[in-house]
Amino acid sequence: MSKIRCAVILAAGIGSRLRTIHNDKPKGFLQLGDKPIIEESIARLVYAGINKIIIVNGYQNHYYDELKNKYPFLQTIKNEVYETTGSMYSLWIAKNLINEDFLLLESDLLYEYSALQTLLNDEQENVILLSGKTNAGDEVYVGVEGNRILNMSKRIDGIKNYGGELVGISKISFDLYMKMNDYAETQFEAKKNYHYEDCLTDLAVSCKINFNLVDDLAWIEIDDEQHHKRAVEVIYPLINKRDKEIQLLKRVDRNVLLNPGPATTTDTVKYAMVVEDICPREIEFGELVENIRQDLVKVVHGEGTHEAVLFASSGTGGIEACLTSVISDNKTVLIINNGAYGKRMQQICDGFGIRQVKFDVTYGDAIDLIKLEEEILRHKEELSHIAFIHHETTVGILNPIDKISAIAQKYNLEIIVDAMSSYAGIPIDVKKDNIHFLISSANKCIQGMAGLSFVICNSESLIKTANYKRRNFYFNLFDNYTFFTKNKQMQFTPPVQIFYALRQAINEYFIETEQGRAKRYEEMYDVLYKGMKDLGFKFLVEKEHHAKLLTAIVEPDDLNYNFNNMHDYLFEKGFTIYPGKGAKVNTFRISNIGQIYVEDIRNFLNELKEYLQKNEITVN
Ligand SMILES: *Cc1c(COP(=O)(O)O)cnc(C)c1O
Repeated sequence: MSKIRCAVILAAGIGSRLRTIHNDKPKGFLQLGDKPIIEESIARLVYAGINKIIIVNGYQNHYYDELKNKYPFLQTIKNEVYETTGSMYSLWIAKNLINEDFLLLESDLLYEYSALQTLLNDEQENVILLSGKTNAGDEVYVGVEGNRILNMSKRIDGIKNYGGELVGISKISFDLYMKMNDYAETQFEAKKNYHYEDCLTDLAVSCKINFNLVDDLAWIEIDDEQHHKRAVEVIYPLINKRDKEIQLLKRVDRNVLLNPGPATTTDTVKYAMVVEDICPREIEFGELVENIRQDLVKVVHGEGTHEAVLFASSGTGGIEACLTSVISDNKTVLIINNGAYGKRMQQICDGFGIRQVKFDVTYGDAIDLIKLEEEILRHKEELSHIAFIHHETTVGILNPIDKISAIAQKYNLEIIVDAMSSYAGIPIDVKKDNIHFLISSANKCIQGMAGLSFVICNSESLIKTANYKRRNFYFNLFDNYTFFTKNKQMQFTPPVQIFYALRQAINEYFIETEQGRAKRYEEMYDVLYKGMKDLGFKFLVEKEHHAKLLTAIVEPDDLNYNFNNMHDYLFEKGFTIYPGKGAKVNTFRISNIGQIYVEDIRNFLNELKEYLQKNEITVN
């Protein structure tokens, strides 16, 4: 059986017994934590590696339809006759959207993550998830024989050989789905209220439908106020506790990377790379790339105005592509250098003989905007672009896009922003800040794998470059863009598996949300800043300019201190730290990006403290 990537959620029903709790909303919009239970379910599915979710809605369908704005991988379809039909009709309605094996779920379920893992890891093809006794009040009992189910009923006396209770999450092969549809079509007329459970029971004789019993599964279906009360008081806290434990206890050995990227990734991003071999010239792969292109633009709110162009390269490749493609022969770019990455942009222009004005700032200092404007004025006639780094990773400083962009607009210049280590970690709005070209890569705050860079281009600015004299070939922005839009294929061989990982990483970003990710990062920074300060450390950059994604820490002036020694000690403990680079005083660097948590930072601080004590290093 191939990897399951699709889930179907049945969400057409009214839920009339719950009206007092959630007014006119569909049941999936009950809320116990910080988001509706349907969104909690979507998040679990994405973390389980599902990247296509189909919701069959009906009653108040617009609530579900609106979720599509937030989750690009979601599709909905409406059961127009939801009031008079059963759940099998809803499942049948979705037949034009389903073309593979899938997980089938109900919308009003609260369940722990391991429910999904259990089904996905089960080697059998068709599996119904069962639990032990819940005493919920309207349980569906399942009769079994060997591995397979025999029948289901709400009355225990209708069950011959009791196997467990139906949870409402099942793994259905495409083959079984087609059989269910064929059979259901013969039943709809006679049984208006035909449910998918009835259909499974009817087919259980002729098809092998298996079960997997998890005795103490934490789950509940919320049908009435009694269920709701039990969910709030008992089940929901239990689910959160168990899911949290899974989050920190990953299956792949976990290193906490405190270097500025590649960042720590989730296991699900790692596993997303294990896919069947596919030729990247196939339509399916073209669609994957197209969706990724669109969603990369969405992350920085450039829908309708911006286009993403992707390259198989590390981040620097994207920068080189941009600088060598968008500055015409007779124009000049002003490059702000307040760290090694600003310097790198200058080096690229040196290498290609691109005309540039170098605006150099001491590493660790903020950009003096008045001096910058003076420099622009001096070169006003020849300049067409300002290029700079958003988060200058060398020192952990955040350069102000809004202010530099305002100056650029005043002199009618375009801006090129290296947002390599801030994209998806700090909210960025390419429209509001009038960003013409923004560059990032797959392996930093978006939390994918290394090997892909991308340039988010304002469409008009990009098209302007169409006839510029070429100084590149592989890395031409416009040519890559037109090749892709014409052929729906990457111009050159893409790193296929890295794309699948990026797809998963983007989905996980939308699940965590823009604010959610920024908040998680910032909370880690707060703990890190305070902890380092308490240990006596000093910081290179003034606090008000901290990007809060990476912190450059001044090295202790103590003979016992040795960076490599400290690095190796911490590496043994699972933490990777990073040396400093060319700042005005010697530093080492700790970043707080990637799938890591406040707990990790606390553990790191404890290990560091122990190291300093053991080696008798005085910090200040
Ligand atoms: C990581 C990074 C880069 C790109 O580095 P690569 O090694 O080419 O991926 C460029 N600019 C900044 C600001 C970075 O943080």
